[in-house]
Amino acid sequence: MVKAEGVHKSFGPVEVLKGIDLEVAPREVFCLIGPSGSGKSTFLRCINHLEKVNAGRLYVDGELVGYRQKGDKLYELKDSEVAVKRRDIGMVFQRFNLFPHMTAIANIVEAPIQVKRESKAVALARAEQLLDRVGLADKADSYPSQLSGGQQQRVAIARALAMEPKLMLFDEPTSALDPELVGDVLDVMRGLAEDGMTMVVVTHEMGFAREVGDALVFMDDGVVVESGHPRDVLTNPQHDRTKSFLSKVL
Ligand code: ATP
Ligand code: MG
Repeated sequence: MVKAEGVHKSFGPVEVLKGIDLEVAPREVFCLIGPSGSGKSTFLRCINHLEKVNAGRLYVDGELVGYRQKGDKLYELKDSEVAVKRRDIGMVFQRFNLFPHMTAIANIVEAPIQVKRESKAVALARAEQLLDRVGLADKADSYPSQLSGGQQQRVAIARALAMEPKLMLFDEPTSALDPELVGDVLDVMRGLAEDGMTMVVVTHEMGFAREVGDALVFMDDGVVVESGHPRDVLTNPQHDRTKSFLSKVL
């Protein structure tokens, strides 16, 4: 579902991704861990067309991200073309960036109605199902300010799912939450995984990675240092950098 081949990304003179190679299979829960500044968010943003890679190839569902290839040449996609592709990818950030002036259900139906031109009835029916799925059936008419952080994050997940994405990206979705609210969000993510959603998850929740993850990559300084099954990498890391990182977070 995602394939990275020698992906490089620089911001001015600073090279943040220094050749990332990895592959995320359909229906896989792919966890990405690593120290602050290692490039995890940048990589997710590249997958989601929020950043353009400078070198290498990045594919989502077999399609090149950000560019169109003709012969040996690459042409940058237009903003309008990027916008269409981004519809198929859901992203949930650390900070639940709901629209504050809209109720939970209005947040969820906004993109399906405005972007996908779905009818209000269809969008509302799906939004109600999604709210139920994230355990918030009774909060449809609440505003973000009336919800806890964990509830807001679950609405954010429902909002991403409302576009029926083929891939969900999570960037530390629980790290801004009070500890007692983390579990509900992880439970929703676990349910999504059970339903077969392909997910790339940047997380510090090693328990989640171990129990739910199918694959895990440890990134440091813009490269993949180590990858494998989460249980193997977490219990038997091979590289000193991985060992040192895990000794701090486990
Ligand atoms: P964290 O765990 O703290 O979220 P991360 O692994 O997600 O870290 P990134 O946010 O990808 O790391 O950042 C990697 C590096 O890229 C950092 O040094 C950061 O300062 C730099 N960086 C990210 N975005 C930009 C940008 N738009 N312009 C310049 N530098 C950037
Ligand atoms: Mg980050």
